[in-house]
Amino acid sequence: MRNGGVSFWWQQVGLPVPTDRLEGDASCDVAVVGGGLTGLWTAYYLHEADPTLDIRVLEAEFAGFGASGRNGGWLSSELAGSARTYAAVAGEDGVQRLRDALRGTVDEVIGVAAREGVEADIVRSGVLTVARSEAQRQRLGGKLTAGQVADRVRVAGAVSGHFDPDCARVHPARLVSGVARVVRERGVRIHEGTRVTSVSPGTVVTERGTVRAPVVLRCLEGFTAGLAGHRRDWLPMNSAIVVTAPLTDAQWGDIGWDGAELLGDEAHAYCYAQRTADGRIAMGGRGVPYRFGSRTDVDGRTQDRTVEQLRATLTTLFPSLAGVRLEHAWCGVLGVPRDWSASVAYDAATGLGHAGGYVGSGLTATNLAGRTLRDLVLGHDTDLTRLPWSGHRVRRWEPEPLRWAGVHALYGLYRAADRREDAGLGRTSRIARVAHRVAGR
Ligand SMILES: Cc1cc2nc3c(=O)[nH]c(=O)nc-3n(C[C@H](O)[C@H](O)[C@H](O)COP(=O)(O)OP(=O)(O)OC[C@H]3O[C@@H](n4cnc5c(N)ncnc54)[C@H](O)[C@@H]3O)c2cc1C
Repeated sequence: MRNGGVSFWWQQVGLPVPTDRLEGDASCDVAVVGGGLTGLWTAYYLHEADPTLDIRVLEAEFAGFGASGRNGGWLSSELAGSARTYAAVAGEDGVQRLRDALRGTVDEVIGVAAREGVEADIVRSGVLTVARSEAQRQRLGGKLTAGQVADRVRVAGAVSGHFDPDCARVHPARLVSGVARVVRERGVRIHEGTRVTSVSPGTVVTERGTVRAPVVLRCLEGFTAGLAGHRRDWLPMNSAIVVTAPLTDAQWGDIGWDGAELLGDEAHAYCYAQRTADGRIAMGGRGVPYRFGSRTDVDGRTQDRTVEQLRATLTTLFPSLAGVRLEHAWCGVLGVPRDWSASVAYDAATGLGHAGGYVGSGLTATNLAGRTLRDLVLGHDTDLTRLPWSGHRVRRWEPEPLRWAGVHALYGLYRAADRREDAGLGRTSRIARVAHRVAGR
């Protein structure tokens, strides 16, 4: 089994060689820091709105090196934040507007991909979430009976389920490399192999020169902590994925997973899975949640015990796949703000903006954030700029070693809560409620 190499998705399409490195100082109208989907969508929509803008993306490795090229491929309409937090600033109506905007964004991404010729194995397949205990059933509140769940996918021990049709399966590396291609074709320069070391009004300092721009947008999500002055903004939360060898028709028949629906569960240490276009299961979960000092991995290599945990989850859900070969494992970081809620912000006085902190639901949210940043930068007052995550402020994470100890304790609590619920507790464990309070969710 291969471990690392950025991700299975990138190995499948071929790892890109960084191009167009910055050569000395430069100036432009808009400097975008980070070449993941947040940065690329922002560049795409800004250029579309005003093709005369000189926009440059500054990327440490290659476009899509981060979470955007490593994720589980769930183009979902999940909130990317806490409903309670957004309701506190914008009421229930604000939360609903954000939900509706994210639902619409699934269509937007599918539409742009079709128009621009981005082939990313996209299928609007919906997502099936299963409950495997009474406590999970109560939390999920799904309408599907055990029998209806089994009609879609035969998950061992499923007692109920929920099906959300507003979700699509994608191939992450194909999507992000496609968007990068389109942006380049429009004339936006993506300076790869160009690491940014600091950002201030009008100035982006990189290891290869300084870029002056009246607008500077920080789009680093899980890598934000690596930038001077931002170590405690968003926690780089780790997530890991394993992918199986292609399953045989008999194996697919055994588990009854005929369609391309995404699959997840309602455990506190939840898992997420997709049936890939070439007939494998890619299954992800938390693994080791956080590295001391907000460090990130180098090339996606994950710990052996995380691989074993994911193998155990796979065979718990599908006992008939006990002997199946895992071909690849990798991990990546996503950004978690202290209140578990994403934000998009721009200050016209300084020209500084940012977007991210999508807590694991960034694939759709990056597109909505890109369009919102466009409106904010252009000074347009729109429905997007009035969404509750726009200008949302959040306090910083605790300093180390509190941060490390807190996050590891938290995930210990979630694992303990899952064990008690799996043992037949019959309701959500109090331990999980305590963990939620500690987390600030
Ligand atoms: C394993 C995993 C599974 C996930 N699964 C899903 C899923 O199924 N559905 C979903 O909605 N979300 C998922 N997410 C979250 C989602 O992928 C992210 O929220 C989203 O891709 C964030 O995009 P981004 O552009 O903001 O950040 P990234 O894609 O991380 O991009 C940041 C970029 O900045 C670059 N960079 C870093 N430091 C510097 C620097 N100093 N200077 C210049 N450039 C720098 C990086 O190389 C990277 O390319 C998952 C995340 C992970 C890690």
